[in-house]
Amino acid sequence: MSLTEEIRSYALDLGYSRVGITTAEPFPMYAQALEERSQDYDWAVDSGLRLGRCVNPQDRLPGARSIIVAVYDYFRERFPENLVGRIGRLYQSRSYIEPPTHIGGARVQLMRQFLEAKGMRVGRWFMISSGVPDRLAAARAGICEIGRNTFACVPSIGTFVLIHTFIVDAELEYDAPAKETHCPPDCRLCIEACPTGAIVADFRLNPRRCLTFSHVVNVQGFRNTSPYIDPELRPKMASWIHGCDLCQEACPHNQAKLRAELPSNAFLEETAKHFSLTGLLKMDREIETKAVAPLLYTYMRERKYFQRNAAVALGNSGDPGMVPHLARAIEDPEELVRAHAAWALGQLGGAGARRALEASLPRESGAQAKEEISAALERI
Ligand code: SF4
Ligand code: SF4
Repeated sequence: MSLTEEIRSYALDLGYSRVGITTAEPFPMYAQALEERSQDYDWAVDSGLRLGRCVNPQDRLPGARSIIVAVYDYFRERFPENLVGRIGRLYQSRSYIEPPTHIGGARVQLMRQFLEAKGMRVGRWFMISSGVPDRLAAARAGICEIGRNTFACVPSIGTFVLIHTFIVDAELEYDAPAKETHCPPDCRLCIEACPTGAIVADFRLNPRRCLTFSHVVNVQGFRNTSPYIDPELRPKMASWIHGCDLCQEACPHNQAKLRAELPSNAFLEETAKHFSLTGLLKMDREIETKAVAPLLYTYMRERKYFQRNAAVALGNSGDPGMVPHLARAIEDPEELVRAHAAWALGQLGGAGARRALEASLPRESGAQAKEEISAALERI
């Protein structure tokens, strides 16, 4: 068995669905996109992420010769009804979180250990990422095509996949690149399904408009970002509080998977029992330890961001029964939570919401929250 075959066989044994191998040549398309779309990506290029360094695998591992790409299908079990439409399936799957927090990312560690035991050096970057453009590497390694929504699509699996890449210094046997796209020329279902218009053109996504950015990324203090969610995007968040699956749910390549009778996941079913938007708004000990920490403690951990997202989702619920919960949140110690709770009360409207907003205005000391309260009162 050749080294390449051994690697493939080991990765498949670990549960990966596809394995492809490509050269460690640079990704000029990625460099071009970063240059042409600096307004979309300035927050990531100039930050600690330094996306410019993802262009050339040599920057990650001097002497790099190959990139091994492994795809994990994370939609193997049923996702609980109480979490679908609120938390993106990728986050529910926990398939990327490293041990000891979770076993999901253990595949990456085991792969790295295997490759090192075979005498290779392996590039590392951040968490489980090797720091190359994963989708472009997977397409060049022949195992996925890129869809109009820019998501990776793996033939006969779909787009609910996670890509892991491994840069190594060994020369391996390379696969032929995939064809350019799996998308029928007239299909626009993902574009139509996106509530925020984030897919601004074919194969072009504005990350700042994607809901995941509002939920998770804008808390990191990147350049030109604010933890106060853009008021224009808030109604479009609907009930989502951590990621969004709408463009994937619309894609014809995922319909078989979405309709399939899959086994339930006991951990997720148990976790879902402890999850509610009102609980998240309060972020009491029970929901924090039994639902939020196990599923969502990755990119952010501060409770105020989860509360903020819950406030927006409750404001979008159209349910007047949520007013008392938001009226309590408008007294939260965190201004960020008070500001978004005020917005949510303005969305729900009614006499109770007005009373809560009027009572909070004189005691509010934060400029942003004050502004949100006044704007909400104007809308009621
Ligand atoms: S994940 Fe949601 S917000 Fe982002 S592009 Fe897809 S549909 Fe739009
Ligand atoms: S919904 Fe249609 S256009 Fe969008 S990724 Fe799927 S096949 Fe391509």
